[in-house]
Amino acid sequence: MKLLPALIAAIAVASPAAAQDRPEWSFAIHGGAGVIERANLSPEQDAAYRAALTRALEAGADVLRNGGEALDAVQAAIQLMEDDPLFNAGRGAVFTAAGRNELDAAVMNGSDLTAGAVAGLTTTRHPIAAARAVMEQSPHVMLIGSGADAFAASQGLEQVDPSFFFTERRWQALVKFLTDNDLPIPERPAGAPPAGMASLEPAPPLNERKFGTVGAVALDSQGHLAAGTSTGGTTGKRWGRVGDVPVIGAGTYASNRDGCAVSATGDGEYFIRATVARDICARMAALRDNNRPGLIDCGGDSVCFADHLPDVQVAAREEIADAETLGGKGGVIVMDARGLPAFAMSTSGMYRGRVSADDPTPTVAIYEDEDL
Ligand code: ASP
Repeated sequence: MKLLPALIAAIAVASPAAAQDRPEWSFAIHGGAGVIERANLSPEQDAAYRAALTRALEAGADVLRNGGEALDAVQAAIQLMEDDPLFNAGRGAVFTAAGRNELDAAVMNGSDLTAGAVAGLTTTRHPIAAARAVMEQSPHVMLIGSGADAFAASQGLEQVDPSFFFTERRWQALVKFLTDNDLPIPERPAGAPPAGMASLEPAPPLNERKFGTVGAVALDSQGHLAAGTSTGGTTGKRWGRVGDVPVIGAGTYASNRDGCAVSATGDGEYFIRATVARDICARMAALRDNNRPGLIDCGGDSVCFADHLPDVQVAAREEIADAETLGGKGGVIVMDARGLPAFAMSTSGMYRGRVSADDPTPTVAIYEDEDL
């Protein structure tokens, strides 16, 4: 058996007991994948991310342990992360080349395959709430730009001045990106705090251009699955660029029928082409139906056999390996119908965590080699 390339990793995350008996509920989140290495995160940054992930897990767990719905847990956790400047979603989102924050989000209900998505929001505080409103209150699946903000406002969702989303660290990341690429630097956005306030914010880790997207997957006590994802996209994006996050089946997907919920983070252009989220669900359905041991593409002409791994882990690994073959790096979180979560990545880290009825203390991880 050939081992996977070092950077491809997936971690089974539930106890053997949980793998056999469905927990009452189960919840997992991510806060983005990327080049995240111990040497590059200070102890303070490391602790700040772990605390933020724990808060988001607790928000989801509060919903689920009280018999709440998977969708509500997903929304509660993502809204917290959208408000947290540590993450590339909502406040703290990356900037476009024009110096704006344009926000994308999606949500999907596995019980009836309804879905909602928004792209290019600039004034809606919680894009995930807008995506949910599209799903539940409109006849459409995806709304974009000012129309999407107007719809969100009409649904009573909080509107903010675009400068609400401004953070100095993301602005400096944009300035660096544009300088490196010999592109013009736009005016500092109206309403942004004066330059020099940067010292009030935590210093950024590396790899500011990409990743930092947030997502959540949940199984509730009714046996329903849901997934949601929210992002500012990629630093310096242009021309109304939209990534995988609001593309149903690419960055976000959930299906009770297939027994899976997926939220992705990574190189959106590749994750769209690989239809990462839907593919994982299809792989899980196929593994279950064929009752075969998982096959993993190890690159080149080799194939690895992944005996004894849960389907959810095999499917996540296979798909991330496939996306990397195309050229896209990133990660996914996946929840199966039994409440077994899996985390797979082709990067050196992914902010992530899990909590369940069986294991009610939130557990978080950052680096690829950490057990979860
Ligand atoms: N997938 C996101 C995008 O391409 C970026 C990320 O995951 O951070 O917009």
